[in-house]
Amino acid sequence: MKLREISVPVTSLHGVGESTAKLFSHLNIFTVGDLLSYWPRSFDDRTKYVPLKDFQHGKVNTVAKVVAHEWFGYGNMRTLKVIIEDFSARAELVCFNRPFLEKSLAVGFSVRVNGSFSMRYGNIQSSAFEAESIPSETALELEADFAKTKSTQKYSDYFSSKKILAVYPLTAGLSQTAIRKAVARAIKEYAKGISDEIPEEIIAKHKLMHKAECITAMHIPKTMQEAERARITLIFEELYQFQIQIGMRSLAHRGKLPDDSIFASSSSILEEAALSRENTNGAPDSDSAKAIIEACFLDGLSPRQKKVLESLLFELTIDQKKVIAEMNADIDRSYDLKKPYAMARLLQGDVGSGKTLVAFFACLRVIDYGGQCAMLAPTELLARQHAENAAKLLQNAGVSLAFLTGNIKAAGRNLLLTELKNGNIQLVIGTHALFSHNVQYKDLRLAVIDEQHRFGVLQRNAILEKGRRAADTAETGYITPNLLMMSATPIPQTLALSVFGDLDISVIKSMPSGRLPIKTHLTKQGSEENVYRYVRAELQQGRQAYFVYPLIEQGDTDEDRGNSLKSAEQMYEFLSKKIFPEYKIALIHSKIEENEQREIMSQFNQNKIQILVATSVVEVGVDVPNATCMVIEHAERFGLAALHQLRGRVGRSSLQSHCFLIYSEKLTEDGKSRLKALFESNDGFFIAEEDLRLRGPGEVLGVQQSGYLTLSIADPVRDEAIMNVARTEAFEYIRRTHPGA
Ligand code: ADP
Ligand code: MG
Repeated sequence: MKLREISVPVTSLHGVGESTAKLFSHLNIFTVGDLLSYWPRSFDDRTKYVPLKDFQHGKVNTVAKVVAHEWFGYGNMRTLKVIIEDFSARAELVCFNRPFLEKSLAVGFSVRVNGSFSMRYGNIQSSAFEAESIPSETALELEADFAKTKSTQKYSDYFSSKKILAVYPLTAGLSQTAIRKAVARAIKEYAKGISDEIPEEIIAKHKLMHKAECITAMHIPKTMQEAERARITLIFEELYQFQIQIGMRSLAHRGKLPDDSIFASSSSILEEAALSRENTNGAPDSDSAKAIIEACFLDGLSPRQKKVLESLLFELTIDQKKVIAEMNADIDRSYDLKKPYAMARLLQGDVGSGKTLVAFFACLRVIDYGGQCAMLAPTELLARQHAENAAKLLQNAGVSLAFLTGNIKAAGRNLLLTELKNGNIQLVIGTHALFSHNVQYKDLRLAVIDEQHRFGVLQRNAILEKGRRAADTAETGYITPNLLMMSATPIPQTLALSVFGDLDISVIKSMPSGRLPIKTHLTKQGSEENVYRYVRAELQQGRQAYFVYPLIEQGDTDEDRGNSLKSAEQMYEFLSKKIFPEYKIALIHSKIEENEQREIMSQFNQNKIQILVATSVVEVGVDVPNATCMVIEHAERFGLAALHQLRGRVGRSSLQSHCFLIYSEKLTEDGKSRLKALFESNDGFFIAEEDLRLRGPGEVLGVQQSGYLTLSIADPVRDEAIMNVARTEAFEYIRRTHPGA
């Protein structure tokens, strides 16, 4: 039986009653399977002798004598202090809420002590310790030997026969001992019958443990090495299964396994062609690669794509062209009816690199084939902006467009839904409303998800599902729509490979030409005047500015300082009355009504408003090229990715832009690192790596709600090496068992 399949309730274990079971339920432990997969947080190695004087080297683990009792505090608060002494030093055990130790640790007793000690008020002290009395003969023997030999060998021997104890995350009312007892019981009764979840030959090849042995070693290890081997086995198993899932998903979706390396998967047929040509004609300049991309790009354009290209006022960057050509090949393949295929692509490009346009080109291709497209954005503000851009760019090329959000009222909405269903609308742009259940398509063949990290995997599937259902009724049978996910928060390579391992990845590195890198300035709170002066100079040149605050309104007080944080509302008043009375200023945040938001954005776009005071609602997507100043107050309150995105709102034209990060005196170490990363770099990829380093993968990906990673013991970043092996083995296995994969 697999570990997770052991579904007998914990109460079936001897010694686990209803009350313990209730406590277990707080830890999501209901079955014996749950209990056995409740992994220890750490281990308490009691096999290693550490005398009191070495308390700084780790947990003390020694034999000592109780020399005195002291009490402090009054009444109910009276607390016992047990003074102990081993041959190396004297120390205090502070027995908070454990008055009963007065008896079990009586003066004169010999005790075995284990705990974390630190120096407090000149004494070595611990309040987190375990202590139990031992026969005084044992203690005397150890002492005598030490007196004779001056060696602590006997102590070491004594402890080497002791145990390594698992330390579990707890919940109120539950003790380590209670968990350990229940786990020991469960292992005794069930471990033998637990089956392996990795093929035998892989276990042998990588010297992993068998599952039964592994579970035992994980909870009750004989040595720390054994515990480590068990941990690695579990990590491998988890990642192996994860990669099997990725492989199978890719197989189902695209009829093939993902490429084995991230570099291979991000390079396209085009790049390969360019490379091979470089090799043959001996001219290894990237110009030839560029020439090939240009040629492929131009050759392959469909009628509507051509038309839009001709209407553009600027040249596409080489990376934009490359990605368009890559997607064209994918889309063509998805319309080749001989073999089911759908694009599944993650497009990563820094803020302002021009991803929207690339997505529009993919839509145009699908529309030329007669299919429908849906473009999904996380905020109404961004969806509307995309819709407005689409109207400007695409309508001349004969694309029928619609805009759909939760706020579109009944009458218009019904008409729109009918038109979508009968295929008269070719591109619909909107928010979550796009996958509400009454939205139906005639032939959805491309779903574009902008700022994909804002959506969960369920939502991504929901929209694909709509296309599947539509296709089921079509003659062509079972079709999965093409999927394009876009993100300006690049996913570091390690994660891209592991978490989005079933996707092809395209990267836009080149920025539109003529852009100047944004200058980032760090300013301490208190010197805002300087920033305001700087911004004024820009406004006088006809430019615009954003001021961003962490709060909408006053109220939340900062506990540490007793100060309140500046809010958007309060600063709107202040900036408009006191600092910039001669300019038009508007306030925008999520509590302002949609219609008003739209009006404000439209006016800001036309430079009828010069300053926008905002919260992080402007974080995603907002695109006003004439805005050159981004001022973020209380910058330390924002995450790294958010700050980078906010900064990306400026620097969107050939004008020099500035980002001012105003921070408070009391910066945490992390806060400092974040601001430093921003100050040093404009590169979203670097920032993403930093973010990952500072916050860990779960946080970065918003894993919990997105459901991408449901890893319990593995960490895709820390365990990258294991991930790679697991991936190779998993794909190997799929190839063996699915001929043609
Ligand atoms: P992001 O990648 O952050 O989504 P956008 O798609 O919003 O970036 O593009 C940012 C701005 O750059 C838009 O105003 C867009 O019109 C403009 N843009 C896109 N491609 C180019 C290009 N090749 N040259 C000049 N400007 C471009
Ligand atoms: Mg964008």
